[in-house]
Amino acid sequence: KSVEEDAAIQYLQAQYDKINPAEIKTFKDFPLSQKTLKGLKENNYVTPTEIQKQAIGYALQGKDILGAARTGSGKTLAFLIPILENLFCKKWTRLDGVGALVISPTRELAYQIYEALRKVGHLHDFSAGLIIGGQNLKFERKRMDQINILICTPGRLLQHMDENPLFDCSHLQILVLDEADRCLDMGFETTMNAIIENLPPERQTLLFSATQTKSVKDLARLSLSYPTYVAPHEQA
Ligand code: ADP
Ligand code: MG
Repeated sequence: KSVEEDAAIQYLQAQYDKINPAEIKTFKDFPLSQKTLKGLKENNYVTPTEIQKQAIGYALQGKDILGAARTGSGKTLAFLIPILENLFCKKWTRLDGVGALVISPTRELAYQIYEALRKVGHLHDFSAGLIIGGQNLKFERKRMDQINILICTPGRLLQHMDENPLFDCSHLQILVLDEADRCLDMGFETTMNAIIENLPPERQTLLFSATQTKSVKDLARLSLSYPTYVAPHEQA
């Protein structure tokens, strides 16, 4: 079984370089694992949105991304799919700890991402966790070492980094900064900088923001390396 899985992973990875966003019509046109494709299909996701068409290929190729896209354009799947595929191809297990981290400005948005992940990613074996405050810190703390995909708000994440001995992001593969402009508008600039400085530098980072302000550019400079800029044309 493991030999088959290795072959499937190699087959997928061999196609990453050939992905052409202009030729993508449905999610099946991306080289994605059967588990992800099935999860998408079950939830009636057939045609990728523009940001998904443009970002997923580069993200699968391992590039850092600076994505500009308005609310409602489908950013959640644009980063959840690459997270699932990244960890799948690395045969990540529960024992490997936190492999992906998603930072979102508010509890509500973080919760929506978590729900979307549970729907689309349920056929994979990864564990997902929500760290958003407003809950018992001890409860969050104990489970921290068993989470593979962590969705969090900036303040609560930094609190765990500072205070929780079980918190370990040293094997992080992929970081997502969602709605970065809103995170900064809400006064999380210092917190975000501190978080990024606590993370291993040899990770992949996807940064999404509706606007490109000076502070977003500063954050991009701090967190991204040689990013690919992705900004779909809006069809109003
Ligand atoms: P954003 O984060 O850019 O504001 P979301 O990822 O929350 O956008 O997506 C907005 C809505 O569009 C959600 O209800 C989501 O389920 C839906 N959606 C996202 N991608 C697709 C798709 N490829 N096909 C159909 N609906 C989609
Ligand atoms: Mg969103």
